[in-house]
Amino acid sequence: MPTAAIIVAAGRGTRAGDGPPKQWRKLGGRPVLAWTLDALRAGGLTRLVLVLHPDDMARAAALDLRDVTCVAGGTTRTASVRAALDALTTAPPGRVLIHDGARPFVSPRVIGDVIAALDDAPAAAPALAVVDALWRGAEGRVGEAVPRDGLYRAQTPQGFHFAPLLAAHTAWPGDAPDDVEITRAHGLRVALVPGCEENFKLTYPADFTRADALLQARTPQMTDIRLGNGYDVHRFGPGDGCWLCGVKVPHDRALQGHSDADVGMHALTDAIYGALAEGDIGRHFPPSDPQWKGAESHIFLRHALELAHARGYALSNCDVTLVCERPKIGPHADAMQAELARIMGVEIGRVSVKATTSERLGFTGREEGIAALATACLIADRGVGI
Ligand code: MG
Repeated sequence: MPTAAIIVAAGRGTRAGDGPPKQWRKLGGRPVLAWTLDALRAGGLTRLVLVLHPDDMARAAALDLRDVTCVAGGTTRTASVRAALDALTTAPPGRVLIHDGARPFVSPRVIGDVIAALDDAPAAAPALAVVDALWRGAEGRVGEAVPRDGLYRAQTPQGFHFAPLLAAHTAWPGDAPDDVEITRAHGLRVALVPGCEENFKLTYPADFTRADALLQARTPQMTDIRLGNGYDVHRFGPGDGCWLCGVKVPHDRALQGHSDADVGMHALTDAIYGALAEGDIGRHFPPSDPQWKGAESHIFLRHALELAHARGYALSNCDVTLVCERPKIGPHADAMQAELARIMGVEIGRVSVKATTSERLGFTGREEGIAALATACLIADRGVGI
């Protein structure tokens, strides 16, 4: 039975201190929500609905949203969940999980247990038994002890069969701290499954310190390296030189193209998009759009790198190979290397530009055009320099 997940992330998180709302703070170089989405994907969920505050919609560009529908939240948590449920009604899932955006460390085990419990119950939720003694207290004094037997600390994701959840929400008049309360009020049985200590909710500044320590401890397993390759070809036409890797190389012809036809920079840009699984230049700068006619290719390269940075990656290194008989690349390779490094804001030693001929074979051998290949290696920001 297909299961969707709703991630509730429209709150303002004022208890977490100054700065952006807690779900947008950085953990290990990435927004908290990026970790939360990845945790749900690791649990096998592929249909995600992310509820955001209307003021935060632009921030979502920093996230990988390929399997995510973004929905504007309401003024209360319950209204936000309701907006997400409405978004799912066009193709209702059999089951839905509702998860706090500020719980980035939910494990596949917890997600799997909640989903499995829905085989026998209309609703299920993870929780941890209270182990500390509980007291009432006021004005700095300990009051009476409260028996902890049978008391649990609630976590998310809370899981539900979709139709009864929607009916419960429709019948519920106001706000509620979570969806278990709403479904119980509607008479649904909610199964209890074991939660996990690491599935804590980021609430106070100290929680971010704990989260950073947790990530640090996981780092050896989590070093995230992305490789991409790019390939491009442009044909020769009339002109007095070619733009190659940001350098105008004098020649008795020029490369033709919609933009400045910088074949080397296009291959490198595509390699970075490739490492991010973000298609190619044509997806981000359609050739059908006249505003890119004659465009300087550093616009494309900078865009690809900014997208990498927004996702929490830095360029570790890149390697570009130009394939042509003429013009001769060797005398210009250092200038190309320096220009690419300048555009990308990285040290020169992370950029390689080299060239080869094709022994007069094929279209490059016949000097009909120039081909370029590139490889880019991206590494999660926290991993660079370690
Ligand atoms: Mg091109």
